[in-house]
Amino acid sequence: MTATLTDESLTTAHRTEKIPVAILGATGSVGQRFIQLLENHPWFRVHEVVASDRSAGKTYGVATDWRLDTLVPDTVSNLTVKNLGIPLESKLLFSGLDSSVAGEAEDDYANQGCAVISNSRNHRMDSDVPLLIPEINADHIDAVREQQKRRPGYIVTNPNCSVMGLAIALAPLERTFGIEAVHVTTMQAISGAGFAGVASYAILDNVIPYIGGGEEEKIETEPRKILGAWKDGRFREAPMTISAQVNRVPTIDGHLMTASVKLRESVQLEDVREAMRSFSGEPQELKLPFAPKHPIHLLEEMDRPQPRLDRDREHGMAVSVGRLRDCPILDFKFVALVHNTVRGAAGAAILNAELLEAKGMLP
Ligand code: NAP
Repeated sequence: MTATLTDESLTTAHRTEKIPVAILGATGSVGQRFIQLLENHPWFRVHEVVASDRSAGKTYGVATDWRLDTLVPDTVSNLTVKNLGIPLESKLLFSGLDSSVAGEAEDDYANQGCAVISNSRNHRMDSDVPLLIPEINADHIDAVREQQKRRPGYIVTNPNCSVMGLAIALAPLERTFGIEAVHVTTMQAISGAGFAGVASYAILDNVIPYIGGGEEEKIETEPRKILGAWKDGRFREAPMTISAQVNRVPTIDGHLMTASVKLRESVQLEDVREAMRSFSGEPQELKLPFAPKHPIHLLEEMDRPQPRLDRDREHGMAVSVGRLRDCPILDFKFVALVHNTVRGAAGAAILNAELLEAKGMLP
């Protein structure tokens, strides 16, 4: 079970009033996770919920087909779901919108002066939109200032759910040794496809070696922007080649992946271990409420990580890496696991908003 944060981690900031937020796509798989994770958040409170015409006008408790293992918070259950597109009272918007509508809607709200923290793919590769993982590229939030030359608000995105696990596992290697090439194969949980995503008759007793929506392309491109630099007003991609193969498997939450990596330097396995073990970034320094103490949990057991056993480490915010060993074709290989709707989606967006708040950049 993915619990909300402990009391200990809730004492990191002292504020008199919480910031009201709206959840766009509140009824979906990611939207529900936002509602769950924000229930006891020390800085933010859910003030508005937004979805399609199918849900608008109903109370959230009626409109949503709640699928998580905690109850719908009372404070949200009675909120009336609003129609996408109407002006909102909140200035901080978390988006878990379907990509068919996210592009235009997120632009519109940013043009109205809102900070839109998005999970959708539409704006991830825009030339002035950060594709943010605060442990890796916190300095990329400066791109927001570039956006604000053309509008009062802005969009900040988090990556594809598998990319989140891969980029965090690769970051210490890129930072310390440089990466030349990566080959990765994913085994992705059904919650990654949203509620209407995969029929049980198609996925039970089965593995589907294809995920639509350009999943492999996202895994081959997004890490290069994330691991690259923001310099002189533009993004410069990390010069690595990535080859991805994706599979949908019948787990509920947690994307598992196997990866092989070729580095730019000749190094020992123990150096790679140490780089991963000691990896940390700005969320840890700033002690942000949703920051895991250790972004990477390096596991020594030969049969870990496993989705059911390891996806909830640090409330789902840590990436687990295991089976780190030499690779006879490239240099090293490992298995990584990320909780796709927490660290790979809603939890990531919340951490991004915390960084923006800590830097005084929320409207
Ligand atoms: P989902 O379960 O299908 O939910 C989609 C949400 O968008 C629902 O709230 C839905 O509202 C709303 N929506 C759909 N069409 C709409 C319209 N025409 N107008 C207004 N709202 C509309 O999808 P999901 O899995 O949560 O994914 C949401 C986004 O996050 C996607 O862009 C996805 O690519 C991305 N993402 C997902 C994951 C993951 O692990 N699931 C991870 C990272 C990123 P109704 O219920 O009213 O239809």
